[in-house]
Amino acid sequence: MKIVAGPCSVESRRQLAEVVEALATVGSVSMVRGGVWKPRTRPGGFEGIGEPALQWMAELKRTKTFRFCCEVALSEHVELCLRYGVDAVWIGARTTANPFLVGELCEAFSGTSLPVMVKNAPSPDVRLWAGAIERCGKSTSGAVSAVHRGFDLYNNLGYRNNPLWEVPLELRRIMPQVEMLCDPSHITGDRSRIAATAQTALDLGFDGLMVEVHPSPDDALTDPAQQITPQALADMVGGLTVRRTDSQKADAALADCRARIDAIDHQLLRLLGQRMDTSREIALVKRPLDIALYQPARWNALVADRKRLAEQLGLDADFVGRLLETIHAESVKVQQQTLNADNQQ
Ligand code: PEP
Ligand code: MN
Repeated sequence: MKIVAGPCSVESRRQLAEVVEALATVGSVSMVRGGVWKPRTRPGGFEGIGEPALQWMAELKRTKTFRFCCEVALSEHVELCLRYGVDAVWIGARTTANPFLVGELCEAFSGTSLPVMVKNAPSPDVRLWAGAIERCGKSTSGAVSAVHRGFDLYNNLGYRNNPLWEVPLELRRIMPQVEMLCDPSHITGDRSRIAATAQTALDLGFDGLMVEVHPSPDDALTDPAQQITPQALADMVGGLTVRRTDSQKADAALADCRARIDAIDHQLLRLLGQRMDTSREIALVKRPLDIALYQPARWNALVADRKRLAEQLGLDADFVGRLLETIHAESVKVQQQTLNADNQQ
């Protein structure tokens, strides 16, 4: 498992040296992260040390065997990183959202072998994320990887950034060769929940983690609530279970369950087909009686009934609600199509 760890922001030579010293004893850390230019949502906060932080990284590299990475958002950041021998860079969420900015960074990467990590944009648009990865892959000859840091949704369900795991899983499906790290610090925004989210990521087959680590988290100038000490990182890493992906053994052990899942899915689809056929019949019954396609009272009663059943069956009522909404939308569409076809006869 690959682990990138280090402070949200480089704050001083001493803070960086202290964190590097401590991370050296954690063992499994492959690279130190440290924000040098900080994108702040509102003006007035700490915006990063800038160039001197790169100098401190370069000095520490002479004494420790660590590799360093930082965020870049402008082409001049890339030029400075190359000048100071930074080992890898990442594109932050707010930059990935803008293809013009990604394009400018790619021009700066071009002809280099700088490894680039691409964080997802704040919106859950997998194509925007994949597009930025693709652009980077065409410019640098170094490895291009993805970092999942969650999405800023209207309802973040208690996360700082909602993980919406289906989005990185879709990225993995369309770009199976791209290494994927998870950033549980920015997903949770809360140090007490980082380990559980990191384990979920490993359970889903992520290749590694990017974690914010600070020698004294509560005093951090940026993101204090989500940074952990080097010791807490070591404890967390010791407690994580790395899942083996795609082994033949797993295929054999799962064959029986997978066959049952296949059969259940086929049954579900046949039943959905029957349900839509019944909707078509309903449309033709409603029509001569001049009944509107959508009957709110019937719909409310149906949802309440299904949620009661969901509870009895141990199914999540919200999940069943969302499923019913989707089925109902399709059913209304099918009824409209039936009436349109009937009108044309
Ligand atoms: C960061 O990693 O410190 C950062 C600013 O992250 P993001 O771009 O994911 O908000
Ligand atoms: Mn941060």
